[in-house]
Amino acid sequence: MRAAGRIRTEDSCWYGAPSVTGILTLPGDGIGPEIMGPALQVLGALTSFDAEEHLFGGASIDANGVALTDEVLAAARDADAVLLAAVGGPKWDTTDPAKPRPEQGLLGLRKGLGLFANLRPVRAQPALYGASPLREERIAGTDLLVVRELTGGIYFGAKTRTRDSASDSCVYTREEVERIARVAFRAARRRVTSVDKANVLETSRLWREVVVDVHQSEFADVELEHVLVDNAAMQLVADPSRFDVILTENMFGDILSDEAAMITGSIGMLPSASLGSGGPGLFEPIHGSAPDIAGTGTANPLAMILSVALMLRHGLHLEAEAAAIESAVDRALAEGLRTRDLGGTATTAQATQAVLAHL
Ligand code: NAD
Repeated sequence: MRAAGRIRTEDSCWYGAPSVTGILTLPGDGIGPEIMGPALQVLGALTSFDAEEHLFGGASIDANGVALTDEVLAAARDADAVLLAAVGGPKWDTTDPAKPRPEQGLLGLRKGLGLFANLRPVRAQPALYGASPLREERIAGTDLLVVRELTGGIYFGAKTRTRDSASDSCVYTREEVERIARVAFRAARRRVTSVDKANVLETSRLWREVVVDVHQSEFADVELEHVLVDNAAMQLVADPSRFDVILTENMFGDILSDEAAMITGSIGMLPSASLGSGGPGLFEPIHGSAPDIAGTGTANPLAMILSVALMLRHGLHLEAEAAAIESAVDRALAEGLRTRDLGGTATTAQATQAVLAHL
């Protein structure tokens, strides 16, 4: 095992050779700091890096009055990659629109870094087949990636509201569809399934046209199919292993990625990546700050550790190191590693050691 990465605190400076990867770490709130340490231990076993840690989310609200300071956003832009644990907790829950909320940090970071592509891999691990609400024979062999457009569509279109009517506009441009389609085709091993509602929606007809154009001009060697979103939702539970990469727009992706996540059985297992064009990506588990178990040392660190694998693959282009982490996690689970959320008794520290032992 090589030396662990060097950690930089808020008031020190970057050090080490300029070529060393600089990672901004945002532990956030709740179990966040408890799972960030294990993630950096695993990363340090594989590669040299400098980690610059900052307050974020609720912790930043307490210290600075806002969830994301300009200084942290600037540090994120300067980093090679951003590793985030989780934010939020009852302390900062509020319905007062004038009060700061931890989630504002997430939105600010996504917007500030121009992160338009959200990647969520879903692998059904044989050791955890029993933890899924779906039967083993349905989920066996599932290894899919949802590529969701993150900054366009109905969530960001113009909104109107009177007492008796309301509207949300769904708008996509050719350029927005082209760039997310390229992310999906590059990630595909055998097939891209583009999901839309082209039988009804004009934005979906543009989506389909542009995906076909990108496919024909740049990725003709990858198989492409189009599936309507209602059919995709059904097939995800009926036959999930048929999918390789699912490419879809913002709202469909929001819904389908949560549906797909249930295939693995535990929220403590799922990582995600958010990518922009050229700048640093953001890598984080999909779960929240789990305030109910914070401080008990029982959080499952695997989603955070697998987020490091995504960072290595998609952010730093270190595929072999990414695969090494995934394989170490698989083998630790196969040997019986189970944290409390998986029905076992392993602590966060024991789970981390089990992964490190297999690296
Ligand atoms: P949550 O994901 O934090 O927790 C849901 C359940 O899953 C809890 O029982 C929790 O103990 C368990 N859980 C989650 N992660 C786990 C892990 N790694 N190991 C073991 N068990 C785990 O969702 P919630 O309870 O709805 O939200 C708690 C807080 O997190 C809220 O403030 C919410 O706004 C915030 N949140 C943040 C993010 C984010 O940072 N991206 C995402 C979702 C929720």
